[in-house]
Amino acid sequence: MNKESNEFQYSPALESTSIVKIAERYGHFINGKFTSSRSGKTFATINPATEEILAKVAVGSKVDIDLAVKAASGAYKKVWSKLPAKERGKYLYRIARLMQERAREFAIIESLDNGKPIRETRDVDIPLAISHFFYHAGWADKLDYAGLGIAPRAHGVAGQIIPWNFPLLMLAWKIAPALAAGNTVVLKPAETTPLSALLFAEICQEADLPPGVVNIVTGDGKTGAEIIAHRGIDKVAFTGSTEVGKAIALSLATTGKPLSLELGGKGANIVFDDAPLDQAVEGIINGIFFNQGHVCCAGSRLLIQENIYNEFLEKLKNRMGKIRVGNPLDKNTDLGAINSKAQLQKIQTLTRAGAAEGAISWQPESSLPKKGFWYPPTIFTDVTMAHRIAREEIFGPVLSILTFRTAQEAIEKANNTPFGLSAGIWSEKGSRILWVAKELKAGVIWSNTFNKFDPASPFGGYKESGWGREGGRHGLASYLLRNEASAKSPSRKLVR
Ligand code: ADP
Repeated sequence: MNKESNEFQYSPALESTSIVKIAERYGHFINGKFTSSRSGKTFATINPATEEILAKVAVGSKVDIDLAVKAASGAYKKVWSKLPAKERGKYLYRIARLMQERAREFAIIESLDNGKPIRETRDVDIPLAISHFFYHAGWADKLDYAGLGIAPRAHGVAGQIIPWNFPLLMLAWKIAPALAAGNTVVLKPAETTPLSALLFAEICQEADLPPGVVNIVTGDGKTGAEIIAHRGIDKVAFTGSTEVGKAIALSLATTGKPLSLELGGKGANIVFDDAPLDQAVEGIINGIFFNQGHVCCAGSRLLIQENIYNEFLEKLKNRMGKIRVGNPLDKNTDLGAINSKAQLQKIQTLTRAGAAEGAISWQPESSLPKKGFWYPPTIFTDVTMAHRIAREEIFGPVLSILTFRTAQEAIEKANNTPFGLSAGIWSEKGSRILWVAKELKAGVIWSNTFNKFDPASPFGGYKESGWGREGGRHGLASYLLRNEASAKSPSRKLVR
């Protein structure tokens, strides 16, 4: 018991890392085997909580990518496209079961490499990633019901680029639907978080997945650009920053290659005066401090109805004071490390801009570890829509707070952004929730909850938040081509 505050303190509860074996070096996973990079170049992936090097990882060059694409294309033509659909489903089930068996290992590796708390990797990232494989395993032999005619066709080889904020989950969002739809893949994990994807490569081996169906090439943005530009890639899926997403869209504009983009966001969480306030406070906390705010659909703008502003702010500050920041491997930790030095600098730049433009920042008392990359939970009040912190994605544990008087004003402020990914509505009135939701330009809207994900539910945005949907039937459809032959058959006409 802490005598001064009269509050119970948690003793450390460290997760053991003994079950995890991280190799000193990793090569790419091409054609079912780990192979070193042709150039011999490597980069270090570090633990952002300690700055210790975890492993050296191969940098993918043009030659490596060419090998990976050839492996994926060969596997598509000779094996994967010939396999009965239900056999594809069995592989996906097998992968899901093997991931379950090694779930704890995945959770620890993800926390080490990313900096996120073990409580989240263990209870959110890894189970959700596994559920994507289970869900899509069920789709593999039911593609006739995806709404694209009888026997829709796979594209062939999918080139997939993923970010560092949910490394294994983003891999699952990409690989599970691609394989279920009958494609083979070349995937690149982010340069700061490659380890869970490389552990996934081991799962592919254990599952006896035919060589070449899944290929994982590690590297940075240049490696990603090479994958996207490769002529053997038939479909591109990218999750990452809006800036890179725009560059990719431009580079593919004349090729006709199908492209799905899941980019940034600046989600508004709107709290009306009739909302259950304590429940809303929990939702706001989860909306912005989950995963250190490294979430494209984070509720990074809070809109509070003016007449409850003071009361709500006090409750929010009180709750923020209880957030435990520190070692990601401690099971009590709520807020872990910022993923990289570069990301920390980006957060610092934007928060400095917030203060310089006149917003007021507040942080609860907390002592941050000396080594590693850390940023305390932060709120800004007195924010206006003109401020950079109200318009730009900070991608960190920083909440910008604004007020509104009428629902119409809340809607206008919420929609006044170049993005359109997520929003939250907190109110007791069902009719108001439905009306406001209809007016909001956001791909995903939660009411009286936030950051809830399900593989059956499509996810994606409007405007600069990207194109296309991931998850559910809609997400699956982006890995399929309508079978025009079947759509034009006389029997189809009759049915129509
Ligand atoms: P962030 O700013 O959040 O790191 P990025 O968009 O830079 O997001 O990175 C997301 C993913 O895109 C990473 O895997 C990164 O290596 C990759 N990437 C970065 N630049 C390019 C590019 N020009 N073409 C393809 N992939 C890229």
